[in-house]
Amino acid sequence: MKRPRQFASDNYAGICPEAWTAMAEANQDHARSYGDDSWTQQAADLLRETFQTACEVFFVFNGTAANSLALSSLCQSYHSILCHETAHIETDECGAPEFFSNGTKVLLLTGPQGKINPDTIEPMVKRRTDIHYPKPRVLSITQATELGTVYSAGELKSIGAISKHLGLQVHMDGARFGNAVASLNVSPAEITWQSGVDVLCLGGTKNGMAVGDAVVFFNPELANEFDYRCKQAGQLASKMRFLAAPWVGLLRQNAWLRHARHANAMADMLETALRQIPEIHLMFPRQANAVFVQMPDTLAHRLHDRGWAFYTFIGQGGCRLMCSWDTQESDVNDFVQDLKECLQSLKTP
Ligand SMILES: *Cc1c(COP(=O)(O)O)cnc(C)c1O
Repeated sequence: MKRPRQFASDNYAGICPEAWTAMAEANQDHARSYGDDSWTQQAADLLRETFQTACEVFFVFNGTAANSLALSSLCQSYHSILCHETAHIETDECGAPEFFSNGTKVLLLTGPQGKINPDTIEPMVKRRTDIHYPKPRVLSITQATELGTVYSAGELKSIGAISKHLGLQVHMDGARFGNAVASLNVSPAEITWQSGVDVLCLGGTKNGMAVGDAVVFFNPELANEFDYRCKQAGQLASKMRFLAAPWVGLLRQNAWLRHARHANAMADMLETALRQIPEIHLMFPRQANAVFVQMPDTLAHRLHDRGWAFYTFIGQGGCRLMCSWDTQESDVNDFVQDLKECLQSLKTP
């Protein structure tokens, strides 16, 4: 069955009206190319306002590029990057962080619910200190995590402090940063540079843009020659205004947070409904816009047969149900209704 909206991923959703309108505004006339235009300037200024600091901002096409290029600017090839074993940079970027940093090794940390256990950081850094092993240089955290959980402000501060103490720079993969801010109800500053984050890869695509991520350097020294890195990697848009204008649309009246809050609220509604069903087990606390559940395989297959799309391979398996800026209450109700019908039909062959 054809469905207008799905729970597969927030990148299934279209472009939100605010981003669309700004794109149309940017399309009215000519502008200078390669980022030398007023839209790019305005988007960067709005990000500085949002983060309440004089950060350096770059716009690239996607999250893989943002993460990989940001990480490569923090590392030499003989360094290593520590991240959670379910981190996107480890599991979903085809080795791009290692490729763009010319061989920097990624070392995997563990911890429950997709979050790094802070106690694992120091042992990993100190495990080897000899010249034969790549030197730990960066800690990468994902906020919100790949498993739909969120690091609290306190957790981030403590991870930031441990990292600084151990001489690690801190990178944050913020593909769903808006959902984390909305969930925690904190200022963007508090959970980034005020917690020791040196560079944030801020996702636009899943928040409602057509395409684009922003790389936000809170430590401006690290941004040195980053423009060359972007260009060499094919990430310098010649019509940059169309990567920048959607940010203006999303940021100027806080639409980014409104959309993230909405997606979170839809996930909350879905979670509440699914909790009533004994055959369904919630896998992780639902803290952002994703609900991870275990359900019988036969049930998942029936739902797929009914035209519902959702992933079963993310993180630690199970079914991931992701809400978007445009998820409607009726989508949640339809899904839950279908799920109940499928369950019933499985019981009465
Ligand atoms: C989607 C996502 C990205 C970015 O992926 P691209 O497809 O390269 O844009 C990065 N990190 C996380 C956690 C994601 O979910």
